[in-house]
Amino acid sequence: MAQQRTFSIIKPDATRRNLTGAINAKIEASGLRIIAQKRIHMTEDQAGSFYAVHKERPFYGELVEFMTSGPVVVQVLEGEDAVAAYRGVMGATNPADADEGTIRKEFAESIEANSVHGSDSLENAEIEIKHFFTEDEIVG
Ligand code: GDP
Repeated sequence: MAQQRTFSIIKPDATRRNLTGAINAKIEASGLRIIAQKRIHMTEDQAGSFYAVHKERPFYGELVEFMTSGPVVVQVLEGEDAVAAYRGVMGATNPADADEGTIRKEFAESIEANSVHGSDSLENAEIEIKHFFTEDEIVG
C-alpha cells in the first residue's frame, strides 16, 4: 500500500465539547500523521459547496446549519493507505453502527453530529485538501 493524504474535519459538536485533542490522539495512535491543521469557522457558502453532493438529500439544509454552528478543525492526514485507514478510525456514519474504539462510537452524538469527516476516495481527498489548504501550509 502506498503513502496517501486524506482530508479530515473535526466537526462543531466535537470542538464545542473540547474534544480536538482526544480525537487527534486517536488519529495519531492509528499511525496517521497530522501534517496540516487549522481551526476555522465555515461560512454557509463553504459548507454548502463542500456538501454539494448531498444537495438533494432531505438533511442538506440542517447539515449546512450544523457545520456552520461553531468552529471546525480542518486537517490533512498522511500515512499508509490513509483514505481507507482514516475511514476505519472514524467508524460508520451512524454512531449506533460504529465499531468499538472508533472516533464516532466513542464521541459522536448522532448520525448528523458525528464528530468527524474523512474523504471517501483519493480523488475527493485531493479536491477537499485543495479547497482548504495551500501547498505551503502543508509542511509534511
Ligand atoms: P460520511 O462519509 O460517513 O461522513 O457520510 P455521508 O457522506 O453519507 O454524509 C455526510 C454527512 O452528512 C455525515 O457525516 C453526517 O454529518 C450527515 N448525515 C448523513 N446521513 C444523515 C442523515 O440521515 N441525517 C442527517 N441529519 N445527517 C446525515
